[in-house]
Amino acid sequence: MEKDFEKLRQLMVKNQLIDRGIEDQLVIDAFKKVPREKFMLEKNRHLAYEDGAQSIDEGQTISQPYIVASMLQALNLDESDRVLEIGTGSGYAAALLAEIAAEVYTIERIEKLAVKAKEVLAELNYEKVKVKIGDGSLGWVEKAPYDAIIVSAAAPYVPEKLQEQLKKGGRIIIPIGERGGIQSLKLIKKKYNGKFKEEELEYVRFVPLLGEDSWK
Ligand code: SAH
Repeated sequence: MEKDFEKLRQLMVKNQLIDRGIEDQLVIDAFKKVPREKFMLEKNRHLAYEDGAQSIDEGQTISQPYIVASMLQALNLDESDRVLEIGTGSGYAAALLAEIAAEVYTIERIEKLAVKAKEVLAELNYEKVKVKIGDGSLGWVEKAPYDAIIVSAAAPYVPEKLQEQLKKGGRIIIPIGERGGIQSLKLIKKKYNGKFKEEELEYVRFVPLLGEDSWK
């Protein structure tokens, strides 16, 4: 079984990522390593390397590998980066981040998911990932500033505190748009003069970011 997953994982990387234009070697190597099946519900493990988002507990989802890869590639991460993720969910994206970056902080508002993600991350030796239960629309000020922020849930606009907690030269990737509809994946760069520059990447569909500086 483990062997089958290993094979399916390498196929996923080739068919879903490389053949679709993912070329950042750090991102590719991370996806080759992280066992997505461990972050899935037991009954859905056989779907771990399917080309889509899958259900986890509490009506939430583990994102489609290609979308996570696009987001990580857009952030142009390197080994020295300190990264904040909003929306831990299963912990899969946090594990991928841990393979690439120096420090990973991730926030989840649903306690049950945060606890489970923490357990899986510990089991796989991702001690580098710090998980916090809380409202990510306010960021994690004690650990700021960050080189990169990835928001794994859709928002109506970019929360103010996330912009503040970003280093100059830093990047945020966030789906912005309608709740329960289609969103546009935005890459926002904080320039050295403190101004922001925005780029639109592609259309996506994420579960909503619910919090004080987002949808209520
Ligand atoms: N990155 C995850 C997928 C996340 S799905 C993975 O790899 O599995 C989005 C997650 O964002 C959900 O678990 C949801 O509960 C969480 N979320 C929504 N609003 C939030 C908020 N304000 N703060 C923190 N987490 C939030």
